Amino acid sequence: MPGSGVREAQEDFDYIVVGAGSAGCVLANRLTASGRHRVLLLEAGPPDKSPLIRMPAGIGMLVAGNKYNLAHETEPEAQLHDRRLFWPRGMTLGGSSAINAMVYIRGNPGDYDAWERAGNPGWGWSGLREYFLKSENNERGAGPFHNDNGPLCVSDLRWKSGAGEAFVEAAVSAGHSPNDDFNGERQQGVGFYQVTQVDGRRCSAATAYLHPVAQRENLHVMTAARVARLCFEGDRATGVELLGGAQLSARREVILCAGALQSPQLLLLSGIGDEAQLKTHGIDTRLHLPGVGENLQDHLDVIQIVRVNRAITLSHSPWPTIKALASVPQYRFGRRGMLTTNGAEAGGFSHSSRAGEYPDLQFHLTSAPLFDHGRERPGGYGYSLHVCHLRPESRGTVSLKSADPRDLPRVQARYLQVDGDLDALIEGVEQARDIIGQPALAKYHKAWWQPDSKLSNRAAIVDYIRRHAESVYHPVGSCRMGNDDHAVVDNELRVHGVRGLRVVDASVMPTIVSGNTNAPTIAIAERAAELIQGEQPLE
Ligand SMILES: Cc1cc2nc3c(=O)[nH]c(=O)nc-3n(C[C@H](O)[C@H](O)[C@H](O)COP(=O)(O)OP(=O)(O)OC[C@H]3O[C@@H](n4cnc5c(N)ncnc54)[C@H](O)[C@@H]3O)c2cc1C
Repeated sequence: MPGSGVREAQEDFDYIVVGAGSAGCVLANRLTASGRHRVLLLEAGPPDKSPLIRMPAGIGMLVAGNKYNLAHETEPEAQLHDRRLFWPRGMTLGGSSAINAMVYIRGNPGDYDAWERAGNPGWGWSGLREYFLKSENNERGAGPFHNDNGPLCVSDLRWKSGAGEAFVEAAVSAGHSPNDDFNGERQQGVGFYQVTQVDGRRCSAATAYLHPVAQRENLHVMTAARVARLCFEGDRATGVELLGGAQLSARREVILCAGALQSPQLLLLSGIGDEAQLKTHGIDTRLHLPGVGENLQDHLDVIQIVRVNRAITLSHSPWPTIKALASVPQYRFGRRGMLTTNGAEAGGFSHSSRAGEYPDLQFHLTSAPLFDHGRERPGGYGYSLHVCHLRPESRGTVSLKSADPRDLPRVQARYLQVDGDLDALIEGVEQARDIIGQPALAKYHKAWWQPDSKLSNRAAIVDYIRRHAESVYHPVGSCRMGNDDHAVVDNELRVHGVRGLRVVDASVMPTIVSGNTNAPTIAIAERAAELIQGEQPLE
């Protein structure tokens, strides 16, 4: 990964990859593997040098901070009392995988079969399964559902809180079946998550795919390199312009991996999108592609926080914080102890009455009182039980606030626009309360922290959801794959109507998957790398 300056990057590249996140790191690795192609990887953020990135418990500081986090806010959400919701996005080598909660989930095979049925051959489970396996290095070893020689390390948790153990026991007594592998034979049930960690440390996409190939002569990585727009000759993308004006060119392709918010923003800034919107901002339309920024989807999450009467969770109070600091040597020298926690240690999948064949609700148990995404830290012990709805029908948009590439895009999630989404979430809250009421958790129950009153009827639950629901950080779908008028990329992820340009990241998902979105984004990029390299040579 020699050099990082613009001058050194003026040489000829075959591919320019924009964004070193979950997808961009995969492409940087796979496209340079044969040695035949020169690749430039551009990342807006700084290098991923912070020990807080490597140490799993650092997640609390990363999400609350803004050095590695491009903190977005939605527009006021009409169904959530006009609240603006916080949408953190990773901004460093590894992208959001450098600040995420490390939960390793693939989603449900049915999610991908639905993509294929929607007109995207090759993206069904039978097509994508091999890319999940290709990426995976599971410490449990290889088997019918897993692989142990891919780059992405997947491990069991090295530290579990008492609250995590009590949650699993309580959920089983509430009728949920135990499951020790949500990526195995069945997704349904409760247990501890496997995490993207290696030897007790975070395994981001950069750890897995980028750093091990840093010395390749044909890979050039630039950090603090924010792309302002794309450059074209006729209908062919030929390169990018950075903030500050430097231009860099690609002989073969520009590949946008800037994530579900920035990839559509970059297309719009480059004149690709809805003509009326572009006109409003004084941008010349290169291509009227109305689907750019449409079809935005996310998992809306409701957290209930309970004060406990014993030290079975983490806490922000002074004494437990000192205890956590005292475990630094245990982490440093043995890679064990509470600093290896990913926060969201246990959870599982369940059905609402609207689910159909496979689960549409997911639980995450955070072994700490989680207020305002960890930005508010009251003292005392408590756990936070999240539930999110996995297959919402509401659709939002990403659009421009201005033609200035330094501005963040406008995000309108439009949560709960479809009534059924609210119904499913209400059932989720009821199921979570049922779990909280079981003896295994009830014996630790000191008081409700939030909500502070009992949610005894539907109206109270609806009010609580509207006041407190938040994103669980899974935006996707804003550059949707498909072949209709509102699709943005075709099923080889090439942007419709132009040449030399692809989008490869979470934005291409036609519909959101039933689970966390990092492993699916990595699998998409693994498949894309093969599609790209299977292309005909340059004419
Ligand atoms: C706090 C948090 C917790 C999460 N927890 C989990 C979890 O536990 N498990 C899970 O599976 N998923 C989780 N996710 C979601 C998952 O991490 C993301 O879905 C996934 O990383 C998205 O990958 P991506 O490649 O689409 O985008 P990203 O990984 O976000 O990468 C985009 C990259 O592009 C860069 N970029 C953007 N604009 C530009 C530009 N103009 N020029 C140059 N570079 C640019 C960004 O800085 C970033 O590095 C979480 C996400 C967050 C934020």
